[in-house]
Amino acid sequence: MPTYRDEVVVLRTHKLGEADRIVTMLSRRHGKLRAVAKGVRRTSSRFGSRLEPFMVADVQLYQGRSLDIIQQAESLGSYGADIAAHYDRYTTAHAMVETADRLNEAEATPQQYLLLVGGLRALARGEHASRSVLDSYLLRAMALSGWAPGLGECARCGRPGPHDTFVAQQGGVVCGDCAPTGAARVDRATVGLLQSLMAGEWEQVDAASAGSSAAASGLIAAYAQWHLERGIRSLSHVSAPQEGAR
Ligand SMILES: [Zn+2]
Repeated sequence: MPTYRDEVVVLRTHKLGEADRIVTMLSRRHGKLRAVAKGVRRTSSRFGSRLEPFMVADVQLYQGRSLDIIQQAESLGSYGADIAAHYDRYTTAHAMVETADRLNEAEATPQQYLLLVGGLRALARGEHASRSVLDSYLLRAMALSGWAPGLGECARCGRPGPHDTFVAQQGGVVCGDCAPTGAARVDRATVGLLQSLMAGEWEQVDAASAGSSAAASGLIAAYAQWHLERGIRSLSHVSAPQEGAR
């Protein structure tokens, strides 16, 4: 029976029969995987809790006729407990894995795997506001898929910035001539924060005002929902950033 190994993040699971689960994973080398974990719901399962959402594991699978079967799973990072203990981290992690779950096969690259693992690790450590970790993750995940928002030049006509209007449907900041009438204005500090979130400049991100953080989160959510088409359900459960919140 042909077997293979890979590193994975568990995105979600659902029940199959009495004791089994189907596990959806983003893997490092094989894109997105759906495989069966047999007996995983028994208390005596040899998988323990290693195949729960947000877990990072080294798995061995064998190719089944329809779905592959998980034979072994070794934990590479148990971020689940540190995430589940905080409601804001938990809802944020859900939004992250849901975004990763949206990636199509061509988009499920090793870079997306590493970005998700890094995001979950940052969330579990609680070093930054959960919402900022999510905002940075969303921007970078979209950039890896070729949907980076324009944050300097006008996204429509290329006129050099800075510009004061952000229109998700037009691909980012746009100049006064390209902006539709009534488009909401965005201040320079917020555009700067979007750039820092994209670049992973955490000193600037952590020092941003609550107002800029909230404005940036709103723009990123609108942009992500526009580009991910169906909208990220979990985003509606993520609370607005609060001053000093971790
Ligand atoms: Zn323009």
